[in-house]
Amino acid sequence: MVLTCPTHEQSTALPSNAMKTRVKLERLLCTFTGGERFPSELVLCNLADTARRNSHLGSSVVDQDIATFDALVRKLTIAANGAGSARVGGDEWLFLGTDGRAFARAALDEYALTQPYRADWSCRATKDGEERIVDEVVTTSLTRTARFVGAIAASRDELESLAGRLANRIWQAPVATFVLLEDLAPPRPPRWQCVAAYPARAYYCPFCTNADFEWTDGDNAVYSGDATCKTCDASLSFDDAGGREAACAG
Ligand SMILES: [Zn+2]
Repeated sequence: MVLTCPTHEQSTALPSNAMKTRVKLERLLCTFTGGERFPSELVLCNLADTARRNSHLGSSVVDQDIATFDALVRKLTIAANGAGSARVGGDEWLFLGTDGRAFARAALDEYALTQPYRADWSCRATKDGEERIVDEVVTTSLTRTARFVGAIAASRDELESLAGRLANRIWQAPVATFVLLEDLAPPRPPRWQCVAAYPARAYYCPFCTNADFEWTDGDNAVYSGDATCKTCDASLSFDDAGGREAACAG
């Protein structure tokens, strides 16, 4: 296997998964100034449910999450003598060292955080000059954590294959723990979410209480967006701003 530093690689074609894996591995191996040791444990980790945290808390909070975790990975890599690590994606890191489990435990000790959270959705509706507002609220919690999946590499030649397999399977890993690749099993629904609970009542029209909408704007991943009620023709604007305010204050 020929490895070059990714900054020297030139290609105009879209990278394949194999190429992406190789570039990620190269980023990791560039961090070893004295050479890797084998056997070692290759660990892939990512921040859990980043898209939802971004939707609820905003990109500046997630940017801070990434900066915090990146600094933590660097610190733990230095503390683990002979280890290496690199950020290999937006919220994804590779670590190579003799004790992946200890690395994951130490990272979680500092990074994992559960805060009180007020999950709500509100709807401001207008129809025939009349305005109605509903606000459905639940007091819950919002968790910041990560996933870690690892595998033993007996030699450098195994790293590329292992890195690809870790990347293909990390979505199956439970949060807030370290798991070996060989022990991974498909997660049982429901899929883990950083927000522990949402209001029991999904959004509805404040005038007719039906929930058949023509969406005109917004992101249906969380509670926000504009719509017209197909039943009574009210104009509806949904938001979850209260949840954001509560989380930022906390
Ligand atoms: Zn309606």
